[in-house]
Amino acid sequence: MTQYTPMIEQYLQVKQQAQDAFLFFRLGDFYEMFFDDAILASRELEITLTGRGGGGDEKIPMCGVPYHAAEGYIQRLIEKGYKVAICEQLEDPTTTKGMVHRDIVRVVTPGTFMDGKNIADKSNNYLVCVTTSGGMMSLSACDLSTGELYVTSVPSSLEWLRDEINIYEPSEIIGDEGMIESIRSLQLQGNRPVMYTPWDKKEEKLVRSQFGEAAWARLEQERGVCISVLISYLNETQRRSLGQLTQISSYEPGHYMILDPFTRRNLELVETVRDRSKKGSLLWLLDKTETSMGARLLRRRIDKPLLHRSRIEERLEAVELLYNQLILREDLRHSLSEIYDLERLVGRIAYGNANGRDLTALKMSLRQIPALKELCAVSSSTTLSKIANELDPCVDLHDAIEQAIVDEPPISVRDGGLIKPGYHAHLDELREASTNGKRWIAELEAQERVATGIKSLKIGFNKVFGYYIEITKSNIGSLPEGRYERKQTLANAERYVTPELKEKEGLILEAQEKMVDLEYTLFTELRETLNTQIQRLQSLAEKVAELDVYQSLAAISVEHGFVKPILTDNYDLVIEGGRHPVVEAVMKDSSFIANATELSKESANILLITGPNMAGKSTYMRQVALISIMAQMGCFVPANVAEIPMVDRIFTRIGAADDLIGGQSTFMVEMADIQVMTEKATSRSLIIIDELGRGTSTSEGMAIAQAVIEFVHDKIGCKALVSTHFHELSHLEESLQGLRNYSMSVQEAGDKVHFLRKLIPGAAGSSYGIYCARLAGLPESIIDRANILLDNLEQIPSLVAVSAEAERGVIRESSEVVQLSIFAEEDLKPKKKEAAPINPSITQIIESV
Ligand code: ADP
Repeated sequence: MTQYTPMIEQYLQVKQQAQDAFLFFRLGDFYEMFFDDAILASRELEITLTGRGGGGDEKIPMCGVPYHAAEGYIQRLIEKGYKVAICEQLEDPTTTKGMVHRDIVRVVTPGTFMDGKNIADKSNNYLVCVTTSGGMMSLSACDLSTGELYVTSVPSSLEWLRDEINIYEPSEIIGDEGMIESIRSLQLQGNRPVMYTPWDKKEEKLVRSQFGEAAWARLEQERGVCISVLISYLNETQRRSLGQLTQISSYEPGHYMILDPFTRRNLELVETVRDRSKKGSLLWLLDKTETSMGARLLRRRIDKPLLHRSRIEERLEAVELLYNQLILREDLRHSLSEIYDLERLVGRIAYGNANGRDLTALKMSLRQIPALKELCAVSSSTTLSKIANELDPCVDLHDAIEQAIVDEPPISVRDGGLIKPGYHAHLDELREASTNGKRWIAELEAQERVATGIKSLKIGFNKVFGYYIEITKSNIGSLPEGRYERKQTLANAERYVTPELKEKEGLILEAQEKMVDLEYTLFTELRETLNTQIQRLQSLAEKVAELDVYQSLAAISVEHGFVKPILTDNYDLVIEGGRHPVVEAVMKDSSFIANATELSKESANILLITGPNMAGKSTYMRQVALISIMAQMGCFVPANVAEIPMVDRIFTRIGAADDLIGGQSTFMVEMADIQVMTEKATSRSLIIIDELGRGTSTSEGMAIAQAVIEFVHDKIGCKALVSTHFHELSHLEESLQGLRNYSMSVQEAGDKVHFLRKLIPGAAGSSYGIYCARLAGLPESIIDRANILLDNLEQIPSLVAVSAEAERGVIRESSEVVQLSIFAEEDLKPKKKEAAPINPSITQIIESV
């Protein structure tokens, strides 16, 4: 066994506790890494790998980063999916004999990282914990930087879990090993990498002391377990008080509309499908918030539309008032724009890393609250007046900061210059002493210039030599011998001191040192006082965020001519003049064509939409879903009139180019989605299926499409919009009472097609696929050949006729039909020598009709 030096022995001992993390081992002004950590870190951080003797025969690999720049390096490692354990010196090395005691003070993980979150950041960083107990599955989510903590639970369901995790987009997930494995298999589709950390310790006691016995008693048992596991992990990694976590928001999943990850993506709620950026999403359009916490709340509202009509109406009432009152809205926006990210400021205060600038930011923010309160109080909105009543301007906290902290404090809290004069008597005395000393020195300089006749004589200061008198080489001749004591020789000057100068220097430096210490103490005392008031500040932040969301929604509704939706508890959904908010907004020439929608028991609850590619089918279907979501989150909607029922869930199956997820085929993904839909949809759901049955052969695709539509019609009875390029399916209108055919109108002129983008009753005549192929620039020879083949095909009796007959009970020799349809398909493909085998599934379907 190698005999290492005591320091390396100490390192190895600490490293034992942090095997899965980089250990940042504090040595003086550096964090050093050794052994394998050093080799890997030097590669990942592109820093020089060196070696150090440590007692063994060979040098130990080592690399390090300066402590004051560590944050950036830690952030890079976290972003690359590592953990970092910070090991500090826990004793003052100048007063300790022998080895300084060192230990880990914090383990930084992706889900608990917050230093890099600056206070302008509009997104959350969640750590999610998943547990099962008593047949229930619970999920808790925590953002340490803002102090948000949510928990919820349902009877065990992995689909639910996937949907819920997806909403938080966590950077780290903890749970027991089995749970972690299950979650991995869910193939989450977040934007950023997720770290999975197996963790199953729970600490009920910590939860009770953190949130109080009453809060603990209110929690359902299984949710308590989940929070206990989460808190135990936070305790283990943070190793300090978690003052920013003051309350647990426990919610019922059943209170919100359910949006699975595919639906959220397909509808581009918070990011686009193409490049996963916010720009181009619904969130991007609606976000006119002025504060970061408002922006985060807005996102949460999009993620979780409500199901309770009265609660939504409360929100709409506020938006409506602000919609109508331009001046009030502008005043609110103005005040909000001066408010910093209160949640993150509070997080830093609780964490003990808030500096002077954070406190002035808090002060400036608090200064806006009385105006906000007043604006809301005098408004005639019940919702806003309620907020006004609850807004606590925290004047005492504002005043405490105002009295203590200078208006423009430095970044560092350890170098003085933070505290205002008049705040603390002893500090003022020390300052006086120091200024007097400095004045004395200035006077000495003037006096000595006269006495020696050397005009360029000056008194300077540096950290090594303290105060000195400097005389340039050319003037040394005029200096009376023995006047000063020589201290240092430079190339073109000499530096001197005198006993009085040294004595004054001692006084000044002592006063300064005391001043800096005292300022730091006073500052931390103030920070501690604020720390005891965190709950007030957090609830203030919540209210401010809510106001910000209202003004944002009102402003955007005015800008884009949205209207207040009429919410109902009925079944029918009726929209007049509906538009797709984002497509409309990005169209330069404002030529978006509005379309009506009626999904009702009276007329039809399923619309089967045909029409050529590019006609606007999917835009239309998405707009209906978006209007429902906007209405239920409490926003005005892009329409002339909208009567919106409470939709409990939206399913979308939209065949987009990104279908190939995790190696599954388009068709399999589609079928898996449809399976979930058949199981979970209720009559209050909204289903949107674009190009149903497209991933498989024509005949099978059509058969499955028909069967699915029938299932939705007969068994689920919910509202549905289905587009298909199988216009053959239009015969369903005859057999399904709740289904109507619609199409996107087009105008033909010669061989050109003009898209009118207007939804009209009746099925489309043709799919214009060949026309699109020409638009896309396919060679004319292919287009010509396709036209010939199409002519041939159109002379063959189609499946439509057969299906319609079958409906009426006329069962033909099915193999004939099958062969015909396969012939049709085969003919479109490159010619093969052998005839294709007969496909049995279509036979079955037709027989069972
Ligand atoms: P489809 O699903 O029928 O292939 P899309 O819905 O993708 O067609 O629409 C194609 C394009 O047509 C959209 O990208 C959009 O630019 C335009 N578009 C769609 N609907 C409208 C509309 N109502 N008014 C104006 N332009 C529209």
